Amino acid sequence: MSDFVKNRARPEIFTLKPYVPGKPIEEVKRELGLEDVIKLASNENPLGPSPLAMAAVAAALPDLSLYPDANCYLLKQKLASHLSVDAAEILVGNGSDEILMMLATAFLNRGDQVIYGTPTFSEYEITARIMGAECLEVPLVDFTHDLEGILAAINERTKMVYLCNPNNPTGTIVSRSAVQNFMERVPDHVLVVFDEAYGEYAESPEFISGYKYVKEGRNAIVLHTLSKIYGLAGLRIGYAFTTSDIAQAVERVRDPFNINNLAQVGARAALDDTGHLQQSREVNRQGKQYLYDSFEKMGLFYVPTEANFIFVDTGRNCRTVFQALLEKGVIIRTGDVFGHPDFIRVTIGTAEQNQRFIESLAQVLGE
Ligand SMILES: *Cc1c(COP(=O)(O)O)cnc(C)c1O
Repeated sequence: MSDFVKNRARPEIFTLKPYVPGKPIEEVKRELGLEDVIKLASNENPLGPSPLAMAAVAAALPDLSLYPDANCYLLKQKLASHLSVDAAEILVGNGSDEILMMLATAFLNRGDQVIYGTPTFSEYEITARIMGAECLEVPLVDFTHDLEGILAAINERTKMVYLCNPNNPTGTIVSRSAVQNFMERVPDHVLVVFDEAYGEYAESPEFISGYKYVKEGRNAIVLHTLSKIYGLAGLRIGYAFTTSDIAQAVERVRDPFNINNLAQVGARAALDDTGHLQQSREVNRQGKQYLYDSFEKMGLFYVPTEANFIFVDTGRNCRTVFQALLEKGVIIRTGDVFGHPDFIRVTIGTAEQNQRFIESLAQVLGE
């Protein structure tokens, strides 16, 4: 590193561990000389985008010479009616990742503290650290967020608590009563960030959205994304529901043209496609059952999931399993980055993909 960078860049950036993305299909094809590769590594929708969204995006191509609507007027109207909230209570980001970064930029100073469970989604740590905030990690208990532990860790320097529900990578949810109890006791100087990227997949009656608490005027924000069940990860779009007060503060740090033309029209169409949403849920439900049954037959421990991925104990070093699966053209995620070196996280795919994954896994574990 040059002296210039060492002395002039903000010291916080050198504390960051880079985000580890799922390995792209094309990269695996190139590196291993494979032709047929499936990716069950990034919790993308195996059915692809909604056909309505694809048509809307194609129809918007002639508008690419124009700047997008900086205020996302039509999209915010659509989201407002979709959620039964006011458009002023909605934020839209270039993926919910960007909303996390905007939240950190708007709220966090050096010396502030944030709290989240571990393992969880890594962007909370990354965005908080960029701003110089201190990160306090509270270990999950039974693969589930320990809300009592988080409450006990809160102090006067705590600015945000992140709650990924269902949690990535474990797929677990916190129970209704645990969330209720938490919200009754969390002090008002803390912003509670409910990341519900997988909320649309949750089937348990124990799942509760943070929506209710924003409605009550609490200092809370609920994040959603179009990248997962809506199948638009490549367009980069996510949204949040929060108080108009908090929304206005975050708007101050937003890049004016953060949502491109195609993402705006694609998202609007995807939100209307309830058929695609239901079909995606159904495919996930069936795939989940097939994978549960298969893991049980193979004698593998897994964490029951409320999302579109499963955290499973292979009983082997995950890097070895990962590499062997890769050579069979199946990309999954390793658990070592989440502190579980024998686990893998697999996205629930189509019936065909799930079967190919299970056959490949059985071969790898049998070798
Ligand atoms: C995938 C994911 C996101 C964000 O996705 P975007 O593509 O940036 O919208 C946010 N939170 C969790 C927990 C995720 O898994």
